[in-house]
Amino acid sequence: MYIADENRYAQMPYYKCGKWGLKLPAISLGLWHNFGGVDVFENGRAMCRRAFDLGITHFDLANNYGPPPGSAEENFGKIMQLDLAPYRDELIISTKAGYLMWPGPYGEWGSRKNLLSSLNQSLKRMKLDYVDIFYSHRPDPNTPLEETMMALDQAIRQGKALYAGISNYPAPMAAEASKILKELGTPCLIHQPKYSMFERWVEGGLLDVLEKEGIGCIPFSPLAQGLLTDKYLNGIPEGSRAAKSWGFLKPEQVEPALEKVKMLNKIALKRGQTLAQMALVWLLKDSRVTSVLIGASSVKQLEDNVAALNNLTFTTSELNQIELILSENKSQEHHRESVEKVVTRNERSSGNIPSRSDFIKNLAKRFDSRE
Ligand code: NDP
Repeated sequence: MYIADENRYAQMPYYKCGKWGLKLPAISLGLWHNFGGVDVFENGRAMCRRAFDLGITHFDLANNYGPPPGSAEENFGKIMQLDLAPYRDELIISTKAGYLMWPGPYGEWGSRKNLLSSLNQSLKRMKLDYVDIFYSHRPDPNTPLEETMMALDQAIRQGKALYAGISNYPAPMAAEASKILKELGTPCLIHQPKYSMFERWVEGGLLDVLEKEGIGCIPFSPLAQGLLTDKYLNGIPEGSRAAKSWGFLKPEQVEPALEKVKMLNKIALKRGQTLAQMALVWLLKDSRVTSVLIGASSVKQLEDNVAALNNLTFTTSELNQIELILSENKSQEHHRESVEKVVTRNERSSGNIPSRSDFIKNLAKRFDSRE
């Protein structure tokens, strides 16, 4: 029988979700990959147990995680029953609806029908009475935002979720969603965007909206699915995400990133960290970021990533060097000598050039032109 480590709350910092009372661990664990029907159940189970022992109270799921879709929730349900059920009130479990889950017109996107049916399915798969956070997984350009937000509000009023979240919403839509949710009496707790050193669209307005609205931010794929680690420096290892046929990291994405990865790796080593560790705390330096949502394929990766929290500060010089590597045009004024100033979590990072994903950019344009 699993008994959680009695020191599990000794090390992990917990940060407030925006202005709300709910706190999340600085590092949360996502079950997108490595917890599905194609994966080794005992490995996923060991990661969940170790995560909780390390103070990770937040586990993030979605209806479609697997493969096959739904199997990560089923496996998590088993892990709950086997190990974590006695700790239910210590856990924040999230799920989402919006991506394709079942055939027909109600199996995806943002209709009330999709969201509420999907949540019922998720609760059954996880054998839970409620989830803590229920997300609209992606904005739906063909459904009024009111309908999607009313579905989140209803999920909470039904007691099937405690908080509402949105994911992948561009800044103007996030602002509008927040307004609608406030009017409904179910304010938005948190936004889950893709954000890493390699994907910085949130810096182009979304983080400002979240700060203004008091909404938390939990970046997903903070390691760019493993690119921001040292694992691909000597090719694509067997068993890695880029080597798996069902993975979302394609082998052709690896090579173009390597030059920057090598340079970033050198800075990380000088800081006494791995690149993965540096990439995680680079996100956490901004106090608008509540928690970073990592994935892991082994207990060791999980432990290494949590050890990132041993060094949460950057000197300005380090930040400038990182900026120089990340900036597309390296001749920009970023290249300057800096004083050795230490930047802590409470100091905002300066504005950077965002590279938005096309989907979100187009959606934002479309949303703006509706008004
Ligand atoms: P990461 O960017 O953290 O990538 C995780 C992968 O990186 C691991 O599976 C592993 O790959 C590799 N890795 C992790 N730590 C290390 C390490 N220390 N050393 C070497 N390699 C390491 O996050 P994910 O892309 O997995 O996303 C995290 C979570 O975000 C998901 O589980 C999900 O909950 C959420 N998410 C949300 C989305 C949304 O639309 N809202 C979309 C995508 C994700 P390997 O398997 O090769 O070992």
